[in-house]
Amino acid sequence: MLSLNNVHKSYITGSNSLHVLKGINLDVNQGEFVSIMGSSGSGKSTLLNILGILDSYEQGEYKLNGTLVKDMSEKKAAKFRNELVGFVFQSFNLISFKNAMENVALPLYYKGVGRKKRNKIAMEYLEKLGLAEWAEHMPNELSGGQKQRVAIARSLISKPKMILADEPTGALDTSTSYEVMEILKEINAEGITVIIVTHEHDIAAMTQKIIRLKDGVISEIIKNGDLQSFKHQYMKELETA
Ligand code: ADP
Ligand code: MG
Repeated sequence: MLSLNNVHKSYITGSNSLHVLKGINLDVNQGEFVSIMGSSGSGKSTLLNILGILDSYEQGEYKLNGTLVKDMSEKKAAKFRNELVGFVFQSFNLISFKNAMENVALPLYYKGVGRKKRNKIAMEYLEKLGLAEWAEHMPNELSGGQKQRVAIARSLISKPKMILADEPTGALDTSTSYEVMEILKEINAEGITVIIVTHEHDIAAMTQKIIRLKDGVISEIIKNGDLQSFKHQYMKELETA
């Protein structure tokens, strides 16, 4: 699905340069469910944005579905994103003056699909996520969990091969977080690659593979079978912190 080879990323503001990613090597296969962990400021969002072609990098190679993503024109990047990637954010990023159905339908609007057709398809996705009764409600009438389900429906409507979610449970309470993770698991079970950023170890433990970012590189990759030892180690870190 994707591979990163020695990817470097710096932010330059004025005369300051901040070297955030210092040689990232990573492969993710189609159908994997992966989490990216790391302390605040470790570059998790930066990495996810590069994966989603929302940001560029200076050095190394990023291949997505066999294509080298480098110095891509905005037009080509947009085409790639539309065809391959769905995004979910911590803050939901719903449009406040559009109802749930219209929010879900939005990606189809940008593809030129007519109102009637796109709203019908949006309703199918809302139904799938158990939100049919909420179709006409505005975002401010929805709970956090409902908003995130609307956002997930919106990310799915263009039939992506991969969902990128930046702290999708970051603004939710524990039980709602688990519900959202169950939905992401179901989506993954349908063959869609899911990559989430989280700093909650119990959320990460629900994925198949945990990638830990530290000091600009991947310090550790923990596979599902090793999750028990991951939890143990994590608890020890907390105790000594
Ligand atoms: P994380 O998601 O792990 O908290 P980020 O990827 O958002 O970390 O940020 C990594 C570092 O890069 C932080 O120090 C952050 O302040 C800095 N940074 C992020 N985006 C920008 C930007 N657009 N311009 C300058 N610095 C940035
Ligand atoms: Mg972040």
